[in-house]
Amino acid sequence: MSPIADMTEPAPVCAPLADAGGAPPPLAPPAGGGEKGRAGAVLEVDLRAVVANWRTLAARHPSGPVAGVVKADAYGLGATAVAPALAAAGCRHFFVAALDEALALRPRLAKAMLAVLGGPLPGTEADHLAHDVTPVLNSLAEIDAWAALARRAGRALPALLHVDTGMARLGLDPPALAVLRDDPARLGGIDLRYVMTHLVSAECAADPLNAAQARRFADACALLPPAPRSFANSSGIFLGAAFGSDLARPGAALWGINPTPEQPNPMHPVVRLRARVLAVREIGPGESVGYDATFTATRPSRIATAAIGYADGWRRALSNCGTVIFDGAPVPLVGRVSMDLTTFDATDQPGIVPGAWLDLIGPGQDVDAVATAAGTNGYEVLTALGPRVQRVYAPA
Ligand SMILES: *Cc1c(COP(=O)(O)O)cnc(C)c1O
Repeated sequence: MSPIADMTEPAPVCAPLADAGGAPPPLAPPAGGGEKGRAGAVLEVDLRAVVANWRTLAARHPSGPVAGVVKADAYGLGATAVAPALAAAGCRHFFVAALDEALALRPRLAKAMLAVLGGPLPGTEADHLAHDVTPVLNSLAEIDAWAALARRAGRALPALLHVDTGMARLGLDPPALAVLRDDPARLGGIDLRYVMTHLVSAECAADPLNAAQARRFADACALLPPAPRSFANSSGIFLGAAFGSDLARPGAALWGINPTPEQPNPMHPVVRLRARVLAVREIGPGESVGYDATFTATRPSRIATAAIGYADGWRRALSNCGTVIFDGAPVPLVGRVSMDLTTFDATDQPGIVPGAWLDLIGPGQDVDAVATAAGTNGYEVLTALGPRVQRVYAPA
């Protein structure tokens, strides 16, 4: 048994990490490496892999084109770099959550549809129109406001219509749909680009909710004027032809998150997160590491301190639990993850010296494995990465 287990608090339960699968490629210093090499943590984003993933999804969705969902700064990867790369590859439809995200992207996405999932906040309709941003209309009030703007503009204005088929967050509910069925003129002046809905549980292929939502969506569309449809998210694309539509809306799978968690990941890895070792010190048996002394050495140990912490999105739940990779081998995270720093037991890896780079996400440990260890999902791991983490892009 591990001597460490004797002397620490009850060992946190961690999911096993992905097998390193042999030695990863040699560690090159991250391209860029921060302005004048100052960055303590770097997220490398492979834009070629993003484009390859988009093409993989397009091949899996023959019923219609595939959009790019680039909300939350493209899930933390950097929307102003990622979205133009997708556009250059032929992506013509983009979704963000909020108007400000759309305004930041609009100049870089000439001609593409740029839609705001959160709907137009009252008073922002004219801003949407002025910047060629397409609202997703989620309620009768939003429909009325957009139709009123169309009357003032004297022409039909494009919009998507969101139908709630089970998520119970945004979108038209059955009573609102009945109103539109009885009064289709309420949609007058609205150029209905797509009617859309969103899957609740698409990553669980066997969940009966998937088929129920497909049925409810078809029923809802039958009540509305004929319009193209938009249905599947990343995981929905893998549910089969019944979930195909005129426009798929994947986000996560584009960035390499596994859309089929019950099966091997069909996507290319996109991100590599690395952090630099700031210091290495030797401690003796009985000495503790970090806040609250949650780790105590049981042997003469080398403790490496790396420049990443929970303020960077490297989650505190990984305290005494996470692993990173150095030279193809796992390095255990010991002690609490603190705001700006994380400590590792480098005793068995003499190559870990100040200035060395540790692989936090990448070969040997993908984003889903980190998420499992932290008790969350890959979406949260990526979107949590903060602004101190320098984004570096390998070109498409
Ligand atoms: C976030 C989001 C998506 C993309 O979902 P993924 O699971 O990341 O592919 C699609 N549609 C809506 C409405 C969303 O909010």
